[in-house]
Amino acid sequence: MSADGQRSLTRSTAAALAAAIVAGDVTALEVTNAHLARIDEVDPAVHAFLYIDHEGARAQAAAIDAKIAAGEPVGPLAGVPVALKDIFTQVGIPTTAGSRILEGWRPPYDSGVVDRLREAGCVILGKTNMDEFAMGSSTEHSGYGPTHNPWDLERIPGGSGGGSAAAVAAYEAPLAVGTDTGGSIRQPGAVTGTVGVKPTYGGVSRYGLIALASSLDQAGPVARTVMDAALLHAAIGGHDARDSTSIAQPVPDVVGAAHKADVRGLKIGLVRQLMGEGYQAGVSQRFDEAVEILRELGAEVVEVSCPNFEYALAAYYLILPSEASSNLARFDGMRFGLRAGDDGDANVEQVMSATRAAGFGDEVKRRIMLGTYALSSGYYDAYYGQAQKVRTLVANDFAAAFDQVDVLLSPTTPTTAFKFGEKLADPVAMYLNDIATIPVNLAGNCAMSLPIGLAPEDGLPVGLQIMAPAMADDRMYNVGSALEAALVNRWGHHLIEEAPAL
Ligand code: GLN
Repeated sequence: MSADGQRSLTRSTAAALAAAIVAGDVTALEVTNAHLARIDEVDPAVHAFLYIDHEGARAQAAAIDAKIAAGEPVGPLAGVPVALKDIFTQVGIPTTAGSRILEGWRPPYDSGVVDRLREAGCVILGKTNMDEFAMGSSTEHSGYGPTHNPWDLERIPGGSGGGSAAAVAAYEAPLAVGTDTGGSIRQPGAVTGTVGVKPTYGGVSRYGLIALASSLDQAGPVARTVMDAALLHAAIGGHDARDSTSIAQPVPDVVGAAHKADVRGLKIGLVRQLMGEGYQAGVSQRFDEAVEILRELGAEVVEVSCPNFEYALAAYYLILPSEASSNLARFDGMRFGLRAGDDGDANVEQVMSATRAAGFGDEVKRRIMLGTYALSSGYYDAYYGQAQKVRTLVANDFAAAFDQVDVLLSPTTPTTAFKFGEKLADPVAMYLNDIATIPVNLAGNCAMSLPIGLAPEDGLPVGLQIMAPAMADDRMYNVGSALEAALVNRWGHHLIEEAPAL
């Protein structure tokens, strides 16, 4: 295929690719090959992927083409390539969760998300890089080296799902699936100029998702447009009996809402606690401008107060390590991946200890220790118990706010993408990236990050967060789509098209 042909396929939206493939204008194999060629070309610099499944992706694409040629029914995203965060199991494909402790492990079963992707007809290109066990905001905690932000290769792509966001931003894939436990879809979305959505907790199956903090973990879509995110959300969402917290209701009509794109008469609340002090000037400026656009589009904008959000970060960094310390106990050198110190004489405890010492990185060890401490007898009530009370207060703040307004807005992150190494030595500085994203995870409702422009001081993307009540995911797609249309109309293109060519 010509370079122009390849370029136009990799620049297409998922919606356009799906339509072209089913109409026979292009084959799924051509689309897959164009993306694989793009990955081979730019991924040495970006390092979004931990594993590229050239052969498997081509076989999936050829199978879709055969079905279309035979006139058999195909799924709504037939032939559309997708990148998968390396935290989801996929039969026979190396799955590491960014950790050396899982190096060489090939899962014997598909995750719920992979099942849904296959039903939708998606072609899975490979596995994307992430902070180890999804702990981090920069991918610098990956056991396999960081991912680079396509806007500036010296900067972080966010985390933990920096690989998924960078793959989409660098046109290596039109779609990616991430997971968001405290912001790992939305924060990378914000700093790479892509759309990232954390669905309502229970909205997408956690079956086969390697657990970080089970009461917070949620899979969701990454895309370059709101409509593409909606299409992927609809494809992966819905009930799965194998996940005990899966919601037994259909996914709200997110695609219909993305088509609607009408905010007239909608009531929008700006969260006082998630604005102003501590936010980069250019982030606040773009945020204010976006709010003004929504006003012009006919929304009513008010300020609301969620006083307990001030304590959300602290509560999260007790609840998450507590759950993680329990979940990660399964990595013991006996069942999966790495086994160290097994010299024939060593006892079980010595092998476990050597395996964990060699296989886990510093951030993972830090959180296991924090969590074990927070759960230990004598401290349980003071730390874990208190944090759970704060969690309830945060949920109450959301409930009170949603009595007054339809959606809530804030900047997604306090700053644009920072440079490698800037926050690595200071865990609390790293944790503060999630100040605006964490309340939603604690309460279990849904949120989207949408690119709204470049910060004037550094020319880097800024994200706006739209938060909606649980099972009102459609609402944030309606608002996101309306704002995106107004911005694209103003700029004459999507923001991502301003990213420097790689
Ligand atoms: N940065 C957050 C953390 O380190 C978010 C993690 C996530 O959403 N997986 O915990």
